[in-house]
Amino acid sequence: MSLFGSSGIRGIVNELMTPELALQAGKALGLKHKYVVVGRDPRTSGPMVENALISGLLAMGARVTRVGLVSTPTLAHAARGYDCGVMITASHNPPEYNGLKFWNPDGMAFSLAQQEDLEKSINSDIKGASWQDMGTENVRHDAVREHMDSILKNVEHYPLKVVVDCGCGAATTITPYVLREMGCRVVTLNGQPDGFFPARQPEPVEENLDGLKKAVIAMEADLGIAQDGDADRMMAVDDEGRFVSGDELMAYFCQYEVKYSLVCPVDVSMMVEKSVNGVKIYRTRIGDAFVSEEVKSVGADFGGETSGTWIFPKMSFCPDGIYAAAKLVELVGKNGRLSDAVDALPKFPLRRGGVKFSQSMDKVKIMELIKGAIDVKSAKDVNTLDGLRVDYGGGWVLIRPSGTEPKIRITAEAEDVDTLTTLYDRSESIVKRCVKACEQ
Ligand code: MG
Repeated sequence: MSLFGSSGIRGIVNELMTPELALQAGKALGLKHKYVVVGRDPRTSGPMVENALISGLLAMGARVTRVGLVSTPTLAHAARGYDCGVMITASHNPPEYNGLKFWNPDGMAFSLAQQEDLEKSINSDIKGASWQDMGTENVRHDAVREHMDSILKNVEHYPLKVVVDCGCGAATTITPYVLREMGCRVVTLNGQPDGFFPARQPEPVEENLDGLKKAVIAMEADLGIAQDGDADRMMAVDDEGRFVSGDELMAYFCQYEVKYSLVCPVDVSMMVEKSVNGVKIYRTRIGDAFVSEEVKSVGADFGGETSGTWIFPKMSFCPDGIYAAAKLVELVGKNGRLSDAVDALPKFPLRRGGVKFSQSMDKVKIMELIKGAIDVKSAKDVNTLDGLRVDYGGGWVLIRPSGTEPKIRITAEAEDVDTLTTLYDRSESIVKRCVKACEQ
């Protein structure tokens, strides 16, 4: 089994994410990297993983700089001055998880090839350096300040009233302070770093943000901001206390950020497409690392994922939830109420569902059958990067196997309800037929 997922190594503490693994990862990294900067989010296991990782690096003779409790974008920003950076975080996962994410000096996460290379080393026997060549470590306290300054220089400042829900994550070290220095009146929720995440789960999805929605109304704020455990994600609540969906927020950003080209995964709504008519859209597999890589390789203006990942390549290839929050303040300050902007976005009916199959069946084979059965002749565009996405102009359908259960997921969206019903039902019956054919 591969250790690396789409976001580095991640697992339950002392099951997959053990001090032994962190130590070995440190040694493996130290084979090729001499100057390494290390940060962590506030998870209870952070110091354990951090010390084991650094011990491995020191054993290889690396020069290690600790920046302590920081957000992932702060660590990626700091990595500019080193051979690489390591962030100890499990992002939006529950508190019992932790993980390691590796960063290049240009703010890009390690590529698939780099991760494979590192995994090979982790699985090998690594001899440490001699006593004369032991590594050294030092501590830096200015990583947050440097990151803040770079954000503050790159946004226009507006004095909005903003509620920030840090969720007790790494955002507590930076987001409220950045917005205050932009001239905002900031009310902070869950502003103490706490690895138990006692206030809410770290993922900034609507079901976790009741407190923020209520606070925005009670405080009569212009905006609510929510972040995940390591603050690379940012989601928002408008001035009427309504959660702004990922598709809506992406469409909003696109209206101002995208001139020529946009990168987004295959599951993004038509709302985004219609908001940026005539722009070249590059679709990727679902996962922020794929979006970042594509933004860099095609030189796009902007990239994003509806989970709250926003990539502003002028700033960094690392999704930066703090910069995204600052940018949102700038745009709302300049262009008026977020609720009006969201109401003005084109809306389309969307339907999500799926067809279950038995555990023993081969999802690759089912998908092959579906690809052969679905109508692609009348399609405007067919994309097989991540499952099968067929765009018919007036609507599209995405059919892909679930990553977590034996199920083929179906997502369809169309310009009107009748088209949606026809499209969804037709797709569902094909999927059912293909699943049945595999049963026999
Ligand atoms: Mg995250």
